[in-house]
Amino acid sequence: METVLFLAHTEADGTLSKAALEALTAARALGGTVIAGLVGASAGPAAERTLAVCGPEFAVPRYATDAAAAEALIRASGAPIVIAPGVSRWARVLPGVAHRLGGRADTHITQVKPDGGRITVSRWFYRQRIEAELERPQRPWVILIEPGCYEPYAGPLQGSIETVAPPQVECRTKVEGVQAPKADEQTIRPDAKLLFVAGAGWTKKQRDGAEHIEEAEKLILGFLKATQASLGSSKSLVDLSGEGQKVLPFLTHLNQVGQTGATPRHPKGLATCCHGEEPHVVGWRFIRERRAVNLDPNCGWARGKADVVYVADAFEVMAKVNELLNA
Ligand SMILES: Cc1cc2nc3c(=O)[nH]c(=O)nc-3n(C[C@H](O)[C@H](O)[C@H](O)COP(=O)(O)OP(=O)(O)OC[C@H]3O[C@@H](n4cnc5c(N)ncnc54)[C@H](O)[C@@H]3O)c2cc1C
Repeated sequence: METVLFLAHTEADGTLSKAALEALTAARALGGTVIAGLVGASAGPAAERTLAVCGPEFAVPRYATDAAAAEALIRASGAPIVIAPGVSRWARVLPGVAHRLGGRADTHITQVKPDGGRITVSRWFYRQRIEAELERPQRPWVILIEPGCYEPYAGPLQGSIETVAPPQVECRTKVEGVQAPKADEQTIRPDAKLLFVAGAGWTKKQRDGAEHIEEAEKLILGFLKATQASLGSSKSLVDLSGEGQKVLPFLTHLNQVGQTGATPRHPKGLATCCHGEEPHVVGWRFIRERRAVNLDPNCGWARGKADVVYVADAFEVMAKVNELLNA
């Protein structure tokens, strides 16, 4: 089996993120020698032999420094196979690095398999409808592992550390800081155990003939606060703002799940006031346990798309659930 370089950047405290540990499991699953290549302010061992490019300029994501560090590590390891977590920092840099080295890169890989002396990888195409297995003759072959597909590596992280001289890079970009919403304003949480989907029904006229948007907002945010679930939406709901209708202000198109939205990976999902049409449900491909609350016993979820459908008023159900969560 070919030697594998596990390539990751370290977090601010020198540790590895969950996505990086998942990629390490994938690298080890190939059965060959694994060398670790780490980039960051500081790094500890992640395999028997770890190569590291460290320094304050490598702590922050920046194309020039990340690409130069990755290139230096791939060259120093001599490894023909490179396995890295498919996080945004690497996804924008590693295809360019593979090009510099005359190799190839594949993103969104969900599985790597040793197949005799060969390596094959799986990825989904056409909005997660077709799964393909492929292999490539070009080396180095850089493989970015989609987060959520492997268990994070839980074995001991020990071995030798070799410092690779930081490459000289001319930087035009200076990172001055990070602007991000406050943690409790951030509703997209890829690592959450539960995906909570809000559909357009939350904004529709209810049995009393009136809309109850403020109440919907309180119920949804109350549930998210108590459970730290990730918030998804149907397309109809996030499209409403463009139609000038009253909307839930904390939802954007980034929350949209489905054919033209995201395909998140959470162990469980709960859809509320969402009809469960195919273009939406196709985004649930990787949600393992699905439940839905809908007034309509004939909604899409009831037609084999959910494990459990509660035919009930989501306003009443979520008020009771929040009451129990807060008790
Ligand atoms: C090319 C294409 C791409 C698309 N891509 C996407 C996509 O990526 N993602 C996506 O989501 N959609 C997508 N769609 C749209 C999709 O087909 C549906 O129109 C959309 O998902 C419907 O959203 P919804 O279920 O929230 O709204 P609606 O269809 O309006 O359903 C609202 C539901 O709420 C229920 N309801 C109302 N009040 C209550 C209550 N009090 N309690 C419980 N239930 C209640 C109703 O019974 C109803 O089932 C796409 C469509 C096309 C044509």
